[in-house]
Amino acid sequence: MSECKTTDHSTKLLFLGVGNAFSEGMDYSSTLMDDKVLVDPSPTCVARMKEVGIDLAGIEAVFITHLHGDHILGFPFLVLDYTFKVKRERPLQVVCPEGGAETLMKIVDLAFSGIPHIDNVEVEFHEIKEEDHGVQKEVVGIPYTPYSTCHGTILSFGYAIHVDGVDSPAVGFTGDTGPCPGLDGLAAAVKALVIEMAQEASNIPAHMGVDDIIALRKTMPADVTIMLTHHYGPGVEVKQKLETMVEGQIIVAQDLQCISLGLTI
Ligand SMILES: [Zn+2]
Ligand SMILES: [Zn+2]
Repeated sequence: MSECKTTDHSTKLLFLGVGNAFSEGMDYSSTLMDDKVLVDPSPTCVARMKEVGIDLAGIEAVFITHLHGDHILGFPFLVLDYTFKVKRERPLQVVCPEGGAETLMKIVDLAFSGIPHIDNVEVEFHEIKEEDHGVQKEVVGIPYTPYSTCHGTILSFGYAIHVDGVDSPAVGFTGDTGPCPGLDGLAAAVKALVIEMAQEASNIPAHMGVDDIIALRKTMPADVTIMLTHHYGPGVEVKQKLETMVEGQIIVAQDLQCISLGLTI
């Protein structure tokens, strides 16, 4: 595993933001996989992609874990760019929890009502229902499996994504969740896992804390990398605890950190 290099052919994760909903001085949580799969269009993600020169036309699919503002409020800005600045050759594919299409188009309308042509951008929605848990699907040739997670009363999903086809190793994204069977299922299905750690305290059902991460890490093979995002900016002591109390790697991701996973088919 290494920081990304332009010559790298390994699966690449660019952390566009790693902060939780309170931000705490970090950008809001969003990850770009191999420059073409965007997981959670957070409020700050479009600005960060432009900062590092990502071609927005290259985004083929957007995966949305749940419909909270820190995960979706960048969507109108993405659509705005596709309306005026960036020409897409194909419709944008959006995988989201059931009800997401209406919510997402509503926030586009609220954000930019009256702007001409904004509803001309072609978007195809793929809504995920509770019963889709564990069922492999495909979008623009990218196989993925949704896992029903536990984030209060709203519908939320983690995703195992095979960005280079069904034979490529799956990378998991938990979205917001507390410890639960759906999270365990996702963790068991992937070779690398991007996981939330919204706060220090554990045993809060809707989010993961430090001890929850350590407990989950112990259930996973040591060669599966865990990367923490949606975090509160843990200090040195917590980072040392995470590093020393468990076998296998845990990375506390930073804003605009790019991680080359070294996964091969
Ligand atoms: Zn969140
Ligand atoms: Zn949330």
